[in-house]
This record gives sequence, C-alpha cells and structure tokens, in this order.
Amino acid sequence: MTNQQIVLKSRPVTHASEDNFALRTVPVPPLGDGEVLRRTLYLSLDPYMRGRMGSAASYAAGVPLDHVMIGGTVSQVIESTNPAFAPGDFVTGYDGWQEYHVSKGHDLRRLDPAVAPISTAIGVLGMPGMTAYVGLFDLGQPKAGETVVVSAASGAVGAIVGQLAKLTGCRVVGIAGAQEKCDYVVQELGFDACVSHYSDTLRDDLAAACPKGVDVYFENVGGKVFEAVFGLMNVHGRIPVCGTISEYNAPTPTSGPTLRALLTNRIMIRGFIVGEHAARQADFLRDCAQWIREGTLKYREDVVDGLAQAPSALLRLFDGRNFGKLLVRVSPDPSQATRG
Ligand code: NDP
Repeated sequence: MTNQQIVLKSRPVTHASEDNFALRTVPVPPLGDGEVLRRTLYLSLDPYMRGRMGSAASYAAGVPLDHVMIGGTVSQVIESTNPAFAPGDFVTGYDGWQEYHVSKGHDLRRLDPAVAPISTAIGVLGMPGMTAYVGLFDLGQPKAGETVVVSAASGAVGAIVGQLAKLTGCRVVGIAGAQEKCDYVVQELGFDACVSHYSDTLRDDLAAACPKGVDVYFENVGGKVFEAVFGLMNVHGRIPVCGTISEYNAPTPTSGPTLRALLTNRIMIRGFIVGEHAARQADFLRDCAQWIREGTLKYREDVVDGLAQAPSALLRLFDGRNFGKLLVRVSPDPSQATRG
C-alpha cells in the first residue's frame, strides 16, 4: 500500500508559495507491536503552519526540510495491534499532511460521531475552539455589559470568540475583510456589529460601533488593525494576543502602539499558546459540545477536496480567501453516511 505525503521542500523568505511544498509517494510501513495504522479523513489548515515553514526561533521548532508538514487530523483506524484502538474507530491527532500514518497512537483521542460531526474535532470542538474558549474566558475575562472586539471575526477562532462573548452578555463587534463576512457574523452569528478592515476609516467605524470604548480586544491580526483598536481601549482593558496573522509573511516585525499608552491605561496584554492550557480541555469540550447541541454555538467549515490541494488552500488564510474553518477532505468521511 502506498502513502501520499506533502513535505516541506524549501522555506519562504516572505510570502509562502505552493513551490515550498512537494508531493511524494512512499510505502506505508508495516505495523509493529502496539501500533495503529489510520487513514486521514480531514486535515486542518491553520495560520500557525506559516511559522513552522520558517526556521526563525518561536515557541515551536520549524518543520525540517523534506519532512511531512505538521497538521491536526481526523482519521479512521484501519489496522491496530494496540488494544486501545480497533479498526473503524475515529480518532483525532497530529498525523500531518499525508494519507496514512502509523504510530503507537499516544497522542490520539477517540471520537464519537454521535456527539458532533467528526470534522469538528479539528475545528469548533478542537484546537481553534479551545483557543477561543481559553483566550476569551481565562485571559479576556469578559463581563456582562462590556464591549468585546474580535478580529478575523468570521474565522475558525474569531467566530467562536464572538459567540461566547454574546453568551456572556457582552456587546460584540467583529472586524473582518469582505462585506459577506461582516454580514455573516452579524446576521448568522448574532454579533452586534462588524466593520471591515479594508475601510479607509477603520478607526472611525470602530469608534462608532463601540460607543462605550473597548474592554476586551481578542487579537488575531496585528498591524494596522491592532493600532486602530488600541486607541479605543478602556481603562483596565484586556488584550489576549492570540495571533498576528497580518505579520506572518513579513520578514521583519511591523510597528505597533507605544508602551506609554499601555502604562497610562493599565492595560493587560498577554500572549498565549493554546497548548499550554490543556487543563481546560474537559471544561471546553463539555461546554461547547452542549452549546452546539442546543444550537447556541454555530460554526462554518470551508472544505477543500484532495491532499494535493493543501498547499494552495493554506495560502488562502493569508489573504482572506477562506470563509470559516479551513480543512482538507483527504479521504471520504464514512461517518457522514451514518449521521444522515
Ligand atoms: P481564520 O479562519 O480566521 O483565517 C485567517 C483569517 O485572517 C483570514 O480569513 C482573514 O480574514 C484574516 N487575515 C489574513 N490576513 C490578514 C491581514 N493581513 N489583515 C487582516 N486580516 C487578515 O484563522 P484562525 O481562526 O485559524 O486563526 C486566527 C488567528 O488565531 C491567527 O492569527 C492564528 O495564528 C491564531 N491562533 C493562535 C493560537 C494560539 O494558541 N495562540 C491557536 C490558533 C490560532 P478576513 O477575510 O476577515 O480579513
């Protein structure tokens, strides 16, 4: 049996391109003792992958050249000599950009398709959802009546942040690119307002949408969007810094606001990495699975078919051509037939 893989061929200097990747076909290794062979059904594409394509020091090392690109996955077990997993099981893990993977399965978590569609394990009920949950609740600490602003508002993380803030009783203002995305977060997800970062009057648009200023800014974008929101922060405002996607393709960091304003307004600004908040996973899964069942938490997936499309699809994240949680359907999902 053969395994298609996508490996990192070269490192981008500025913008990532499809040429940084190569497709290769290798044999699937034989199954050893205590091992699990699984077929990838869904591969998650996420902005952090741009960082892993580089070699600059960060919170995680870059992917070595000629190695399979890292990525969260939902898979089905094909064969197993590990008593914890049986053929047919659905699991989530980090199998990367490939069709098959064999390992001891230490990092695998079994999924129940009756709880939610299994693709959600890499979206609203996976890393992006958990990021929204801990970033908003634990770092942002929103209170009813406060104003919460979130950038990349229609995306995998931002859409959940805004809805969780609404559940808390906050005024929620999104920032997104296209008008279609702004309409979606207001009309479908219930945000109070959304402004476009393409507007020449972004700062004024935001000020009009946030008449009482901003108490929590959930930062996903950085750059000029950050500067526009920063000037509206209230005393004792909080800024969980989740991501700065506008800077990921830049060779050097872009400018930011002055530290004096942070001091004068006693603003708490704190970066975080979702992987360091694993202790909250049980709370997150309990709450968000329930809100999805009740229909209070909505999510949108942007599904691309075929592993070979992964490189071009990844690039969509950096100019807003994704709309919702971006994922690749690597193989047909057999659980969909049983869900009806
Ligand atoms: P999204 O699904 O939101 O997709 C990325 C979106 O970012 C695009 O659709 C686009 O939306 C917006 N964007 C891209 N480039 C720019 C730009 N130059 N200026 C303004 N907006 C831009 O991605 P995710 O929800 O998966 O990730 C959102 C952020 O969260 C990222 O910064 C990511 O790195 C971060 N993150 C951090 C984690 C952590 O542990 N700290 C974990 C997970 C994610 P639009 O069309 O609206 O402009």
